[in-house]
Parts: sequence; structure tokens; C-alpha cells
Amino acid sequence: MKHHERYPLVPIARGESAWLFDSEGKAYLDAVSSWWVNLFGHNQPVIKDAIKAQLDQLEHVMLAGFTHAPVVELSEKLAALTGLGHAFYGSDGASATEIALKMSFHYWRNIGQPQKTKFISLQNSYHGETLGALSVTDVAIFKDTYAPLILQSAQMPSPDSRLAEASESDEAYALRCAEALEAYVAEHHAELAAFIIEPLVQGAAGMAMYHPVYLQRAREICSCYQVHIIADEIAVGFGRTGTLFACEQAGERVSDIADFICLSKGITGGYLPLSVVLTTDKVYQAFYHDQTVKGFLHSHSYTGNPLACSAALATLQLFEASDVLAHNRVTAQALLAGVEGYGFSMHHVRQRGMITAFEVTTKNPQFARDCYAAALKHGLLLRPIGNTVYWMPPYCMTAQDIHHLIQTTRAAVEESM
Ligand SMILES: *Cc1c(COP(=O)(O)O)cnc(C)c1O
Repeated sequence: MKHHERYPLVPIARGESAWLFDSEGKAYLDAVSSWWVNLFGHNQPVIKDAIKAQLDQLEHVMLAGFTHAPVVELSEKLAALTGLGHAFYGSDGASATEIALKMSFHYWRNIGQPQKTKFISLQNSYHGETLGALSVTDVAIFKDTYAPLILQSAQMPSPDSRLAEASESDEAYALRCAEALEAYVAEHHAELAAFIIEPLVQGAAGMAMYHPVYLQRAREICSCYQVHIIADEIAVGFGRTGTLFACEQAGERVSDIADFICLSKGITGGYLPLSVVLTTDKVYQAFYHDQTVKGFLHSHSYTGNPLACSAALATLQLFEASDVLAHNRVTAQALLAGVEGYGFSMHHVRQRGMITAFEVTTKNPQFARDCYAAALKHGLLLRPIGNTVYWMPPYCMTAQDIHHLIQTTRAAVEESM
């Protein structure tokens, strides 16, 4: 709060397409999709109309003992898209992580392996900030204060290609990290329930990108040693990495890589809070029992909210209506060309689908904050993570928007180096 003395809150009055407008009418290009949730822009007519139509039918009903058309339709669609045919709903990303962790643990207990109680994740991983999710998150600034409250979990070396040796390819480095994973899992599998991972891009780590071969090897290792894989696609799902789901770059379908997938953020196009954990029939069957305590007892009041489900269905409809991924490839090319034209000192320029990032070489310890403030001045919402500048914009940018993004980012970075 104290920092806001120097960086005042920005009062946003409305949004339109890739832009936000403050109460005085100043426009800001939303280069981070309002924290990675917005897919098709603000004030998007298809999503807005779907929510309005649903509002005239049913705003909410509890999902215990009752059901409704939007949640059924959404579950069917997500099952067809991922190959994971059972859905459990929550309200936000962290609750999806909690659900997946609890369900994995409970699965092993139900099938007579109650000693499988531990989780592993990657170094620098981010899976949310409730106590369970924080246990598998590895970002010191969020975690250290709460250390006495959280579960122990082990972190595996991150295949983040920035960490590869100069002479080593991304793929060779990913394989080297997979060897370390294998050694750990071979030794500890008897007590391991699941490996939770952000597929292809570790967002909060500073858009750390890695080679898909790591996911393939992780799948083989975890299958061999009976450990679940939880794919946390909360940030990377819905086209961000160039495929509808990031796991599709490692396997034909999500179900070839993951036992559980967590989805949230973009699922409603950035309109309403919703999350879902999808899993296999095998996991589902382990809970199908007369004894209530063998069932999965976990509930949130707004689970499967009809308005949010209708926004999610409209979002999927937008993917069906046009070749969004092909359109994004053209946008991504223009964005990368823009970065490559910068004259300032930077390294590790990288891109995966609609996520573009680079590291600025600077001695300014306040670079992230100064760059954020400079960008605002130029009409741009940009939030560097440390010295990493990244773009994760909505999919609806025009040629002028792209031009503005490239030019104002250049100015903001140069002014804050
Ligand atoms: C944002 C995020 C979460 C947490 O989602 P919330 O809705 O903020 O709780 C979990 N995992 C990843 C990879 C995320 O990016």
C-alpha cells in the first residue's frame, strides 16, 4: 500500500477491445490481458451477449444434487477437447490446484496406497497462493513468510531454457532436467502422489519457457513409477502457447500427458471467475463408492456458476468460429519482429505462441517498477517481472495496436534502464 504513494492506483472506467480507459479518458493498451485472463478483448460482444442471455434464465443454482445446461455443455466440450472426461468445478485458479492435489492424494488412499502423500513441483513454479497451492509454489516472496503453515514438497530442477549451458540446446537441457526428475522419482515414488507442473511456460517465474520433450519424459517417468501428473494450464490454456492446450505440443491430446488438468484464467475469456479440474475415468472410478467418505468431499458455493459457464461456452464458440490460432501466429510474428528491432541491450528473446518475453540488461534494481510506471505514462499496461519484459496480450490486437505496443514498450524500457 505504501508504494502507492509513488505509484497511484489507476481508476479504470471502461474497456474496449485491447484497451482500458481511465476515468479521465486516458487509454492504456492491456499488454498483460489483465493478469493473463482476457483472451478476446474487453467489451467482447459474443461473450457479453451470452452472459446477458444466461442472466435472463438462471444466475445461479447450487451444483450439489442439481445441474444446469451450461455446466453440462461445457463439461462435454472440455472432455472432447482434452480427452479427460470428468470435470470438477471451482471458482479460481488456486482452488483448482487445491482440488487436483486433494483428489490425487485421495485417489491413492482409496485404492489402498495411503502412503502416497507427497507432491513435487518445479523450481520457480507458481500454482496459486492458498496454503495447499503455496506448498507446491516456489516463489520465495510469496512463500517464505508462511513457511510454518505449509506442507513440505520437493522442487525439481526447472527445464527453463534460460538456465541451459551456452553450448547446450534447449532440448538437451530439458533432457538433463528430466534425468534429475527420474532420479528423484525413482528414489521417492513410494510416497509420491503427484508431480504438478506448468506446461511449457512457467509464467510467474518470468515467462520461463522450456522444450516440450520435458513433458514427454515426465509422462514416461511418472507412468513408470505410478505418480500422477497435474498439468496446471491455468495461465497457458486456451491458445496462449500456440495450441489450444500447451500439453498438445508434447502429446496428441492433453490426456496423453496429464492425469489432471487445471483450467481457469482464460476459460471465461476474462469475464467471470471459474475454474475446473478435468481428470480420467480411472480417477473417477476410485471415488465411485457407497461410503460417503470415499467420495470427493470438496465444495465451493459458486461451483459451476451458470453465468461463468455461459461465458466459457461463448469463449469456446469464438475458437470454433474462426481459426484463432492461425490468426495469432501472424500477430506473434509481428511481435517478435518488433522485439528483434530493439536497439537496447537485452538477451534471451523468446516466444511461445502469444507469449513473448526478453530480459533487459540493466543495473536499475527498480527496473520492473520504473518500467511499469513509464509504460503507463505512454498509454501501456506492462508489468515486467524482475528484468523480464513480457507481452501476453488479448488475441484481438489490430496492426495499430501492435505498433503502439512495440513503440511504447521501447520507450518505457529505455526510460527505465
Ligand atoms: C494465476 C495462476 C494460478 C492461480 O490462479 P488464481 O485464480 O489467481 O488463484 C495458478 N497457477 C498458475 C500457473 C497461474 O498462472
